[in-house]
Formats: sequence, C-alpha cells, structure tokens
Amino acid sequence: EPTTFAVRVAPLGTHGQVLVLAEDQTERRRVEAVRRDFVANVSHELKTPVGALSLLAETVQDAADDPVAVTRFSGRMQHEAARLTYLVQDLITLSRIQGGEPIPTPGRVPVDEVVHEAIDRCGTRASAKEISLVAGGTEGLRVWGDDELLVTALRNLIDNAVAYSPENTRVVVCARAVGDTVEVSVSDQGIGIPESSLERIFERFFRVDPARSRATGGTGLGLAIVKHVAVAHGGEVTVWSKEGSGSTFTLRLPAFGGAAMAVPDSTTNS
Ligand code: ADP
Repeated sequence: EPTTFAVRVAPLGTHGQVLVLAEDQTERRRVEAVRRDFVANVSHELKTPVGALSLLAETVQDAADDPVAVTRFSGRMQHEAARLTYLVQDLITLSRIQGGEPIPTPGRVPVDEVVHEAIDRCGTRASAKEISLVAGGTEGLRVWGDDELLVTALRNLIDNAVAYSPENTRVVVCARAVGDTVEVSVSDQGIGIPESSLERIFERFFRVDPARSRATGGTGLGLAIVKHVAVAHGGEVTVWSKEGSGSTFTLRLPAFGGAAMAVPDSTTNS
C-alpha cells in the first residue's frame, strides 16, 4: 500500500500566501479496505447456508410423498439453520466487543467457575470424539472481567482444541497466577498450525483450511472473538503450535484486585 495524502490549499491574507494542509490517508484507507473485506466475507458466509436451505426446501417439496427423504432433508435443513444461527450469534458478539466499548458487567470472576462452565459446554463434542477434557490449577484464582465473555472466549479455545484434534486425545486447561495476571492455557494434541499461518489466525474469517473448518462447523470468527475479549479485558491471547503435534493458546488476564493469589472470600457462591 503506497502512502496517500489528502492535500488542501487555502489562501491566507492578501500577499499571495497560502496554507497547505496535508493529511495522511493511509490508515483511513486501510481501515476502509478491512471493512470492505469484512462485509464481502460476511455476505459470502451468509450466502452459503441460505443457498443450501433454499435448495433443501425445494428438494423437500419435490419429495413430499417420500417420508424417509423428507426426514433426511429436513434434518439437513436444521443443520444449515443452526450454522446460520451460530454465524449470526458470533457476528453479534464480535460487533459488541470489537468497538472498544467497556465490557458489560465487570466484576470478580472465579477462574474455576469460568473454566468448568466452558468445559461443560464443550462436553458433548469432546465425548463424541472420546477426547478427555482436563482442568488444573484453577483453584482460588480470580480475574477481573465479565464472566459471560470469559466463558465465551474459553469455550471457543476449547471448541477449537476439540475440533482440530484426532479422537482419543487430551485437551488440558491449565491456570496459574503470574504477577498481577492470571494465565489460562488450552493445550491440545491436534493437527497444529503451520508457522506461516500463525500470525493470521486471529483475523476474522481466516482459516488454515477453509473446507475442514466448515466441516467442523466453524464460523471462522472464534479466534477473533477470543482476541477481542482478551483486549477488552486489558489482556492478550498468544499461541504456540507445532504442525502434527498440537497447539497451546494462552489467555492472559488481569487478576482481580491485582492480586492473583487465593484470598479467602466469604461472598463466593453466596
Ligand atoms: P474456525 O471457526 O474456523 O475454527 P477460528 O477463528 O476459531 O475459526 O480459528 C481460525 C483457524 O485457526 C481455524 O480455521 C483453524 O485453521 C485454526 N485453528 C484454531 N485453533 C486451532 C487448534 N487448536 N489447532 C489447530 N488449528 C487451529
């Protein structure tokens, strides 16, 4: 991208002096390009399930006399409708948090609860692949933030770990206090991410392998959501990965009250 300037010239006084204003437009152009790409991507992602739904609806109509076919095609319609729902939900979540607005209900969040809630929500997919989900080190740690957003972020990381791992493997969620932050990491023994893709995976709709991602039901927005949740909390998310061996995503969040260590607290669970 070349640097572009918007130049304005205004006459000044009566002696032929002029005022020249040069404004760097490079950033504005870049932001516009990102927005255009995003809209194009969203349209494309919405078109796919909508197209499939209308084809399936026609097929069901044609097969009205065949109850077996009707059952099969309406099942597929439900599947496509669910995809559409996830995509819209992810878009709403993303647009809420990426605008730089303050997080909705900040407060003290027990890491233990967030981790177990996220694990619970991924349980069905994990057991379908006989993947064991294990958590450790969460006891007594508290972070500052919005519990719903933090569960969403963690669920996305665990969902990915399960989606991109073979059957009969382990996904480990580990938490620890580091200074005035808490690190929560999700490690898998999955396919890993090629080094050349590592710096792009947090972009909206970026996928290493689009076909595979769609087959696993991914919207391509999961990691963008994780990144924005982390940033909105004043934290960050990082990744380590090796192709063929697995990946570890680490969420670093501010500890509640700045002290990450366990503090006896009578109001927990009350
Ligand atoms: P998706 O819905 O496609 O999973 P994400 O934003 O969650 O979208 O992830 C972006 C891409 O990063 C995925 O398509 C996948 O290629 C890669 N990826 C994410 N997590 C993992 C993981 N744990 N192991 C391997 N690849 C992953």
